[in-house]
Amino acid sequence: MVVFDNRGMPSAPPSAPPDARPTPALRLAHKAWTLLQADSARSIALAEQVLQLPDADATARAWAQLVLGFNRLNLATPADALALLEPARQAFDALHDRAGALLAETGIARAWWRQGKLKKAHERLHQLRDEGLRVLRNEQRGVLLNAMAGSYSVAGDSEQAFAYMASALHDTRPSRAPGFEVALHCNLANELLQLGDGQAALVQVDEGLVRCRRLTNPRLLSALLINRVIVLTELGRAREALRDIDEIRAIPADEQGRGRNASSFETLAIAALRAGEVELGRALVAEAGVAHHEPITDEQHDLVQARALLTVAEGHPEQALALMLALRERLLSDGTTSIDDGLSLRVQSNGLELLSELAEHLGDTALALTALRGWQRVQARRADKASRARYRAAALQTELMRLHRKLEEQEARRRETEQARQELQAINDQLSRKVQEVEQLQDALREQATRDALTGLFNRRYLNDTLPAMAALARRDGKPLAVAIIDLDHFKTVNDEHGHDAGDRLLAAFAQQLLGDCRISDVVCRYGGEEFCLLMPGTRAASAARKLGLVLARWRQQVFDHDGRQLQGLSFSAGVCDSTQAGPGGQAMLKAADDLLLIAKRDGRAQVRVRRSAAAT
Ligand code: GH3
Ligand code: MG
Ligand code: MG
Repeated sequence: MVVFDNRGMPSAPPSAPPDARPTPALRLAHKAWTLLQADSARSIALAEQVLQLPDADATARAWAQLVLGFNRLNLATPADALALLEPARQAFDALHDRAGALLAETGIARAWWRQGKLKKAHERLHQLRDEGLRVLRNEQRGVLLNAMAGSYSVAGDSEQAFAYMASALHDTRPSRAPGFEVALHCNLANELLQLGDGQAALVQVDEGLVRCRRLTNPRLLSALLINRVIVLTELGRAREALRDIDEIRAIPADEQGRGRNASSFETLAIAALRAGEVELGRALVAEAGVAHHEPITDEQHDLVQARALLTVAEGHPEQALALMLALRERLLSDGTTSIDDGLSLRVQSNGLELLSELAEHLGDTALALTALRGWQRVQARRADKASRARYRAAALQTELMRLHRKLEEQEARRRETEQARQELQAINDQLSRKVQEVEQLQDALREQATRDALTGLFNRRYLNDTLPAMAALARRDGKPLAVAIIDLDHFKTVNDEHGHDAGDRLLAAFAQQLLGDCRISDVVCRYGGEEFCLLMPGTRAASAARKLGLVLARWRQQVFDHDGRQLQGLSFSAGVCDSTQAGPGGQAMLKAADDLLLIAKRDGRAQVRVRRSAAAT
């Protein structure tokens, strides 16, 4: 037997000329395609959006139709799907887009297959194979190969089915179109079940379910759950399937959910009846009777079996046997008649088992024996296929594991990147909080700053904070506090004649002189502009004025050189008072000193004015 393997095939050329840049509409349609398995609802929404765009190009429209057609294959009737896939294929033909045309053909073949035209579908898919392998890439190639696997599976050729599945898997790049591999798990489980390997099938179903729950594809989820129900029933664990039946029935049957064609109520009914749930079984048989049915022999046989089981449960084994006897001929045939017959080994085996059970129950030993022999033959065929397919199945499972490792690595990398991003974000947040704190601190510090930048003296803020405390201290100690306000004379002229820099230097120089001339206990402030304020604790106004007279005399002696020009003959005016003269509180003293300063200015500047206190006179 020749087993298919495409590993050696040349790599596919791109499906569109490399210079043809995709239009935004086409990009949208391609996105809809890649979401086919991961998020069916979004895939449909995107494709419909493309078809509504007034300026969408013909290629984009054809791809959108293709996507909708594939979604309908899953969610609606084959006729519904064909209504979109046929025009899509014609459009692709007219556009000479071979990739699109091949995919549309694949979809059409699958629709035929659902209509029961298995042979026609099988032949068409076979015709597409060689060109498909040349033209299609990645998950597109996977879609064709997966369809071929399914077609071989129906034809009972498990070995080829496994081989095509392995190739489909090999070509399906999960990063590009996530979820296509989940469908493969589902198909693989189905195939293992045909071969009678329920345990291995259960592993695949469960693996598929774990992955499917990360997607938004209720149809695929319900397909996997239905497979799980079948597997558990097959393994004699039908009771465990009851939870899955509940979950399936909770998924809506509309196009947003599991779709109208994926009801499989007859299969669920068999599980429920095998689990002894007659009420549920009856409800499901009724639902199966009204559900939409394509002429797929498995489903029809399952429905008859479900009805037979229900009839037995209702206490009418003779009627049940009568139902099963209608299938007798087909069940006992060797199954090689026609591919369109499409009865799977699993369903055939189950049917024969039930037939023999019923015959035995009713005492028809001859029929029971015949059915049992038939069942043995089917089991032998299953075992034979299984042994030939085992190598392929094992290879496929290895391939799946390899793919999963890759997926897991990708996921881990994504998580690591995400974690690193979050850590960076946290550090950034922390940093900006710190920066904010520092800025607030600096603001506060600026607020609290007590020094004047130009002269290094205390500033007016400090003066305002300190003066009341010093005045209160002086009152308490019974000592005078002298306050002097000094204003440099004609300072504007200095600026005007020598420049602002010269003015600045002069202010700094005056501050230095003042600091040098005063006591350590004196507080020397820049009051503002070219005005200064002196607080002299323990000093009366008169002695403060004398002191300032000396300061003025020294200042008048100063000669400064600025840019080769000399600055001299400088002077200031000052007003001095003390705490014994002015009213209580700093502001009154400042006011008194300022008034005296004004008098000094008015009287010709270059002088210190003081109000003599009573004690000093
Ligand atoms: P008066 O004798 O009446 O006090 O005359 P004046 O020119 O000193 O007084 P006026 O109030 O008319 O001008 C004060 C000048 O002091 C004007 C202003 O440019 C200057 N001034 C104030 N602060 C600074 C400073 O920080 N640097 C410099 N270079 N000049 C300053
Ligand atoms: Mg002034
Ligand atoms: Mg002045």
